[in-house]
Amino acid sequence: MEQEQESQPVTAAAVRKRMPRTSEQRWDRLKWEFLRAVSAEYPNPARKDCPGTEALRDLAEHMVLREDLRGDPRWKHAIQCGPCFEEYITLRDIRVAGPHLAH
Ligand SMILES: [Zn+2]
Repeated sequence: MEQEQESQPVTAAAVRKRMPRTSEQRWDRLKWEFLRAVSAEYPNPARKDCPGTEALRDLAEHMVLREDLRGDPRWKHAIQCGPCFEEYITLRDIRVAGPHLAH
């Protein structure tokens, strides 16, 4: 007897299946799952080798390109450092919500 599994684990394939339409929405959903994974794997409580807020802000102000994820040392760090990735997400959200802040 065949049966569809309702509760599948979160995998890249599973996430891709329920992707929203725009890349912004897609990113919005992915980032939290990614943050959770990065934080669990690389808690980095001592903030070792962190590039600093300015570097992360610079990343947050630009579109993420696939080449950058591999080639940019700041990205290489940010995706292997929970605190940096969280900071990056926060900075990016501030930038996206910019008009609200420029009250
Ligand atoms: Zn870091």
